[in-house]
Amino acid sequence: MNVPAEARVDLGAIADNVGVLRERARGAEVLAMVKAEAYGHGLVEAAGAALAGGATWLGVAKLAEALRLRDAGLTVRTLSCLGVPGEPYEEAVARDIDLTVGALWLLDEIAEAAERAGRPARVHLKADTGMTRGGARGRDWEELVDAALKAEASGRVSVVGAMSHFACADEPGHPSIAAQIGAFTAMVEYAEKAGARFEVRHLSNSAGALTVPEARFDLVRPGIALYGLSPIPALGTFGLRPAMTLAAHAALVKRVPADSGVSYGLTYRTARETNLAVVPVGYGDGIPRHGSNLLEVLAGGRRRTIAGRVCMDQFVIDLGDDPLAAGDEIILFGPGDRGEPTAQEWADALGTISYEIVTRIGVRVPRAYP
Ligand code: PLP
Repeated sequence: MNVPAEARVDLGAIADNVGVLRERARGAEVLAMVKAEAYGHGLVEAAGAALAGGATWLGVAKLAEALRLRDAGLTVRTLSCLGVPGEPYEEAVARDIDLTVGALWLLDEIAEAAERAGRPARVHLKADTGMTRGGARGRDWEELVDAALKAEASGRVSVVGAMSHFACADEPGHPSIAAQIGAFTAMVEYAEKAGARFEVRHLSNSAGALTVPEARFDLVRPGIALYGLSPIPALGTFGLRPAMTLAAHAALVKRVPADSGVSYGLTYRTARETNLAVVPVGYGDGIPRHGSNLLEVLAGGRRRTIAGRVCMDQFVIDLGDDPLAAGDEIILFGPGDRGEPTAQEWADALGTISYEIVTRIGVRVPRAYP
């Protein structure tokens, strides 16, 4: 490694994690959610690994991400989930991207774009079954279905999917899980009675795919589990393998006297004469500043807590008398098999979710695929 820091991504782990999901969600196809740079793992590389592991669809949030997958030569069915006004829908239709539609205005915009593109847009109707975010519910759902079927009859769209999204699938037994399944089933039934012929009905994220068999329908849409992180940490790892290891090289090691104040605000003071190492990543690279004096890393085979405040480009650790040298490797987090913290451990310490830890690793940190 001749860079200050890198995120090493084990593509084999991603492929294997798809295998775990396929086994659990037997019978359902797997759409690999690769939005947000595949949760920080690298959009195109992670997508390729997920497909190698048996995923048959790709999913993203934003259309630009789907177009990048096409630019990279990936021609597999790809669903863009977040509809925003004014996106290049004509290009999306021309490039064969499936689009999510949860509102009439978006249906109209996409249908017009499809007319210009000269072929029908493939759409998935988004039902709001209780999360109260995107999608339509009640009378709005009925109007959306009716309008979509009219647009289908006129050749402008092809209604291929019905979808919704869980709010609390990561809380086993939460009453909203059964309520959302019930609402989705009823909403799909309404649409099918009205004449919809869905190719895929889908509701489950990772937690649903792993723990709610009755919510698998035709397709599951795992994200976090692909990357080996548990959607329900209290239930363990489900046999998933974390794919990302974040490593850095010590930029500097120096001996300092007792009672040296360290980093902005001097919030850490050395207890005695000691060796400090400067680690060349900071909040500008996605290391949470809330991790100051809190998060652990693995240096010279031992856990060390970040000493003082995380800065934009660097932070410091106190090595005691350990003989680490500039250039030596420090593991910030990884699968945990060498004693390093996991992204889940960092998340627990910070009171957040592992999703945020891996997704926020920034563009200055190159991804490596060893
Ligand atoms: N489906 C949709 C529509 C999403 O927005 C997401 C991400 O939040 C997922 C699936 C994947 O969720 P998870 O990473 O919890 O598996």
